[in-house]
Amino acid sequence: MSGLGEFDLIRRYFKRSAGPRRALLGIGDDCALLSAPSEGALAVSTDMLVEGRHFFADVDAAALGHKALAVNLSDLAAMGAKPIGFTLALALPDADERWLAGFSAGLFALADAHDCELMGGDTTRGPRTISITVLGEVPPALALRRDGARPGDEIWVSGCLGAAAWAVEDRVERHAAASDEASDAAMSEALESTSDSASDKAAALNTMTCGAASVDASLRAQAWQRLERPEPRLALGLALRGVATAAIDLSDGLIGDLGHVLTRSSEALALQSAQSDADAPAVLGATLDWSAMPCHAVLQTVAFERRIRLALAGGDDYELLFCAPPSCRATIDALGAHLGLTLTRVGQIDARPGVRLLDADQQPLTIHVRSFDHFR
Ligand code: ADP
Ligand code: MG
Repeated sequence: MSGLGEFDLIRRYFKRSAGPRRALLGIGDDCALLSAPSEGALAVSTDMLVEGRHFFADVDAAALGHKALAVNLSDLAAMGAKPIGFTLALALPDADERWLAGFSAGLFALADAHDCELMGGDTTRGPRTISITVLGEVPPALALRRDGARPGDEIWVSGCLGAAAWAVEDRVERHAAASDEASDAAMSEALESTSDSASDKAAALNTMTCGAASVDASLRAQAWQRLERPEPRLALGLALRGVATAAIDLSDGLIGDLGHVLTRSSEALALQSAQSDADAPAVLGATLDWSAMPCHAVLQTVAFERRIRLALAGGDDYELLFCAPPSCRATIDALGAHLGLTLTRVGQIDARPGVRLLDADQQPLTIHVRSFDHFR
């Protein structure tokens, strides 16, 4: 690493003076040591963020530090696990100290808020990539797995949907508009002396770009906050132990993530009925109520089809989707009120394959959406 050496960098930005808390031995040896959780299982999850794929190159470093840990904590939340600590593998093109200071401040602010300790990691030169492995604990019988949904369960979603995906498109559109304007400026200069159509053209361009430009600044800021600083729903995950039959965090879009719950739960049912010689197992599907969907307010500014796509396939929401029998409604409502978090019933699990989306009049809406997949 240029300027600052690898080990100075680790000491300055990632090793904390207070020393290890939960770990018996923290950063600085070949391994960290921590005692096994006294009750329950270790929950382990890894998420990697790659520049240009998961974040824009010019993103604020502190926001990136926050998000890199938040997406991992979100997996613990979706499992009903309590955070213990994490490791951080970093590839950096250079030892940019301003960037490192911002990144580690954002990272540790969130880590401290959830009492989650940095226990070790690896640092190397390379295209900017951040990989975190997070450790948590949960009694195995209470873990919120993906495979416990059953026909008749209701489907719930925390918070609101679609704002992060809107912000990504907002950014792309505004960049396109900015480069259009740059080339238009050159063109209107050329046209100015010979005709008045340049102003017509400028007016036309203005209308073209006003879709995004006309969005209220505070609404836009809210949407960007949702993209850059997702809040992992850890308290909700803990509270759903013993209540939810299945849960997943929404990282790739509701339709696809719900699909994982349906697949895993159908497999679990098949296994159960094979073991008990029961009748042919049910393949699970779901019916969703579009009018109940908690769309973020910014989605009101886009056309209907696009709103559906952003809310149901947008990704990056980091809310929890969970299933629970109807008998749990009152408990869940009370829990939402207690946490100050909107929890919305958006549909139910059926013993019929496929996902159906209904409008307020119970009429089917066509879903032309597909969740995010890195290799498609
Ligand atoms: P080794 O070569 O044995 O893998 P390293 O020289 O890579 O060890 O790392 C030295 C120590 O610094 C180890 O304890 C490792 O866990 C820690 N470490 C390295 N990079 C980071 C990082 N980005 N954040 C936190 N700890 C780190
Ligand atoms: Mg190493």
